[in-house]
Amino acid sequence: MMQNIYIIGIGLIGGSLALDIKRKRPEAIIHGIDNSEDHLNQALELNIIDEKAALDDLEKADLVILSIPVDASVELLPRVLDRISDFGLVVDVGSTKLDICEIVKEHPKRRNFLAMHPIAGTEFSGPKAAIPDLFQHKTNIVCEVEKTAFKLQEKALNLFSEIGMRMRYMNPESHDKHIAYMSHLSHISSFMLGKTVIEKEKNERDIFDMAGSGFESTVRLAKSSPAMWTPIFKQNKENVIETLEDYIANLTQFKEMMEKDDFDGVYNEMKDTNYIKQILNGIS
Ligand code: NAP
Repeated sequence: MMQNIYIIGIGLIGGSLALDIKRKRPEAIIHGIDNSEDHLNQALELNIIDEKAALDDLEKADLVILSIPVDASVELLPRVLDRISDFGLVVDVGSTKLDICEIVKEHPKRRNFLAMHPIAGTEFSGPKAAIPDLFQHKTNIVCEVEKTAFKLQEKALNLFSEIGMRMRYMNPESHDKHIAYMSHLSHISSFMLGKTVIEKEKNERDIFDMAGSGFESTVRLAKSSPAMWTPIFKQNKENVIETLEDYIANLTQFKEMMEKDDFDGVYNEMKDTNYIKQILNGIS
């Protein structure tokens, strides 16, 4: 049974997991650990956690969920594993997987660790951003599952299935490569779209009034936290640069077609890319 659950980083992802887990396992005690005393107090008020805790309490943990920025996770995970009992499991939910798997590959408690990335989120952060059902029908990418003790992975994966996730198994290298295209590039393109418009449209009222035109949905991710995203881009630098090169080449080609009045080309480019509708309908 997973009685004592510790969440390190009680923000959007940690908080949302806490809400769903508590609904499925009302008997569990959810302990919160966070850098921010304010966030811990908010999480208590919002009934996201039952009590505050500290790293020294982790020997009592059945499950620890590490949901802090990816650079902090790489730094903290070995120390968390040092404290865990033979029967405890530590799960990390960070958006990059290679560095975190690398840092614990020789750790004596490697079998007490499960690396995963729930593909779910919003552009908001902190415990106030936590919402129930965030993980319903979402994919959970699990890396190096064979390196986790079978009984521990089974308990955790049952729990994550119960809160609505379907598992996909991948090695950390493939995860980081694919996620650079699917998630990291989308964030950069949204940030740079926001920047381009802010620089050009000096009148904030104009931006506000015309935002409904597609700009608002495309720029949504530019509201995301730089504290969370900078370490992701740093850890996944090579893959992200590769996606940017491909993306910049496509933008340049589009611009050149416009310069040459090649509007058949422009039309065909968009027509071909409409195929995304079928791809996304097929998996929804
Ligand atoms: P968040 O809402 O900002 O929550 C992170 C919490 O951890 C904050 O309360 C933060 O406090 C705290 N924290 C930061 N460093 C810490 C440390 N060293 N020790 C203890 N607490 C610390 O972030 P999030 O969006 O939940 O992201 C958490 C993790 O989930 C990240 O690894 C991210 O890559 C991953 N993830 C995010 C998404 C998404 O869409 N957001 C999706 C999937 C996975 P302060 O704010 O005071 O620093």
